[in-house]
Amino acid sequence: MSGGLKIRQIQMRLEPQSVIGQERPVRRLTKMLEKRSIPHALLFTGADGIGKQKTAKGLGMALNCLSPVGVWACGKCPSCQKVISGCHPDMITVKLEGSFIKIDQVREVSRQLRFAPLEGNWRIVIINDAQAMTLEASNAILKILEEPPKGTVIILTAGQTTDLLSTIVSRCQKIAFRPIPYEKVTKVLMEQKGLDRQMATTLAVAVKGSLGKALSVDAEKWSVWRTNILEQIASLSIKSVQPIFFFADVLARDKDKLVDALDLILTWFRDVIMSKISPERIINKDFMTKIEHASQGETINELLEKVWSVYAAQTAISRNSNPRLVLEVMMMRLCLGCQAVTSQKVRGNFLKRSPLAGN
Ligand SMILES: [Zn+2]
Repeated sequence: MSGGLKIRQIQMRLEPQSVIGQERPVRRLTKMLEKRSIPHALLFTGADGIGKQKTAKGLGMALNCLSPVGVWACGKCPSCQKVISGCHPDMITVKLEGSFIKIDQVREVSRQLRFAPLEGNWRIVIINDAQAMTLEASNAILKILEEPPKGTVIILTAGQTTDLLSTIVSRCQKIAFRPIPYEKVTKVLMEQKGLDRQMATTLAVAVKGSLGKALSVDAEKWSVWRTNILEQIASLSIKSVQPIFFFADVLARDKDKLVDALDLILTWFRDVIMSKISPERIINKDFMTKIEHASQGETINELLEKVWSVYAAQTAISRNSNPRLVLEVMMMRLCLGCQAVTSQKVRGNFLKRSPLAGN
């Protein structure tokens, strides 16, 4: 009984307007539902946290809803309630097991597909993070896609089409989800998390329009982390080498946040450039004085070179280079680019003390 109440309280709104910032994909799906022409395989691509999984679940729910509102799910009928509570027998969801989706998980899907849908008109298989399928798992999915069982819709979600076997991609109808505009994410964060505009904007930019990620972040902890990173990047100086290596080490150790930290550092240099050409567009407004200070004595070209250094570090890390080494090189480039640090003596001293010198 209390379970039923709980389900009602978390009633899921999956009608088109509730998937924020994805009007185009939702419009396409609405048309498919209106025409009752649902492809047997769909591929939703786009960044994490922008509504792909929610939309996939919403589509599955709509297909089996007992009293749809328009073409979308009511969210109230027994079928919808089962989808919401994750126990609808005809809704199969495959998720990451560790870092991968493994062959055994796809075999289990194949086994279930041998039987007709149990309750609904449709059976829906959602494979989240399909890019994480092992080669064996990918081949097994391909087999299912080659001979799709009647009344089954398979929805794969992935970062981009190039992450998957081209033979899988070619068998799916592709729907691209775009990052949600920052203003929309900001508005939701202000409304749902009670953040002030400054904090909501910086968080929206930091998550690159991923609303799911923004909503899952502990805003207070994130704010402390952000302030710390920006303070450190603002105080970068070649005059004292040790803090630079210490900072590189701190960043490298926190692997889960490394990508976010580099993105944040990029927003810093973007702001420093903006302070020269369009100060009203600065994102980290609470650091205005330090940003203006950092922009003094640096040309836009020099600053763009720093942006490039951060991009280069991101690329190297994504290719599995040693993060600590990459970050040290990045820091070195960021510092040696400073006008305040042009003396050959300091450069020489810096390079001598860097681990890159082979000490
Ligand atoms: Zn329903």
